[in-house]
Amino acid sequence: MGLDQSFGKSAISVEEARRLINSGMHLVEEETVGLHAALGRVTATALKALTTSPPFDVSAMDGYAVRAAEISSVGMRLPLSGASRAGTPVVPTLSPGTCMRIFTGAPVPIGADAIVIQEDVEADGGRIVFQAQARPGLYIRPAGLNFKVGDEIIEAGRTISARDIGLLAAAGHGTVAVRRRPRIAVLSTGDELANDPAGAGAGRIFDANRPALLALVAAWGGEPLDLGIALDDDAAITTALQGLDADLLLVTGGASVGDHDRVRPALKALGLSFNFWKIRMRPGKPLMFGALGNMPVLGLPGNPVSALVCALLFLKSAIAAMTGGDASGPHFETARLTSPIGKTGERDDYLRATVTASDGELTVAAFAEQDSSMLALLAAANALLFRPAGAPAAAAGETVKVVRFDTLAGY
Ligand code: AMP
Ligand code: MG
Repeated sequence: MGLDQSFGKSAISVEEARRLINSGMHLVEEETVGLHAALGRVTATALKALTTSPPFDVSAMDGYAVRAAEISSVGMRLPLSGASRAGTPVVPTLSPGTCMRIFTGAPVPIGADAIVIQEDVEADGGRIVFQAQARPGLYIRPAGLNFKVGDEIIEAGRTISARDIGLLAAAGHGTVAVRRRPRIAVLSTGDELANDPAGAGAGRIFDANRPALLALVAAWGGEPLDLGIALDDDAAITTALQGLDADLLLVTGGASVGDHDRVRPALKALGLSFNFWKIRMRPGKPLMFGALGNMPVLGLPGNPVSALVCALLFLKSAIAAMTGGDASGPHFETARLTSPIGKTGERDDYLRATVTASDGELTVAAFAEQDSSMLALLAAANALLFRPAGAPAAAAGETVKVVRFDTLAGY
């Protein structure tokens, strides 16, 4: 029985598959890392400011600190009484009837309530002539403008950006509690697969899936474990998995029902329990999911495009499910077709496409060729065009959903 005959009621939707896969993941423990190592990690807890920023009222400009009431009109003159610099340990006091030199980031002297910028004054001997009026609060950043001690500045489950690292540093954090990187093992299966030019030969092709999947694991916050290539042979697959300690096992190839598709029989012999193995999508129908003991196992199709489209749809969210991040799947945007497109069959289509941003909107064109072995077209594409099962033909100008690859770090 071919796949198309066996494909039927037992097939499930992409959303259902994602839900099942995510719920099969186990949240990994937390660990503490230095801020320098926090980029891309997921916060294990919400984080509060350990300090107030700025810690006191500071000047936003280089200029002169004054009492605004004393500079109520243009042309006022005041004698200069000292200076306030950034980093000074004591906040100076401004005597009535005087002004004080002040610099950006310096504490506003006690008694002052405005800064007149240096461009708006002239010096006349020992006096400063104000060419602008002051009003209370002018060019002053009040204490706590940025954040106050105890404010929640970062939520739990957030993937830390460089901007977040800056904020955490400003708020007094030198380390941060994050989720451990899930250990994700990747095994390729296939008698035809070769690792590198040394293994090339008649009937061999190079293993494309494992290098790409290992890269995605790293890009999406996991710790990749390379299990190499196993032959289409139960013993070889069993051997490759011996002693494996991972939070998730990814296997590609051999998941269908042909005589040489040994992944399911081999894993079954090891005690794998299956959740499902068919998904209503193209490319990528033969997807399987189960668990070997406590370890979830995701079997991706062997065709490289199918494997990588499934990774886009399920792997990033699975990693997020393990780290407490956003596991909702890729972000879809609306784009306008530049050329007509045919109707969809009984599966959702994810077509390799080119999205262009022009005049404030996205336009999209799918490649005419969509064979799932053609990795060159996946590399050439910058998006997938999504067409739900049963969609009618669409004309140029109609809108469709797309997933842009640059929204998926590293994809
Ligand atoms: P399978 O799922 O094992 O039936 O493989 C489907 C197709 O994908 C076959 O043409 C395989 O040769 C090819 N394929 C399987 N695994 C890989 C891989 N790791 N790299 C490149 N092509 C692969
Ligand atoms: Mg195979």
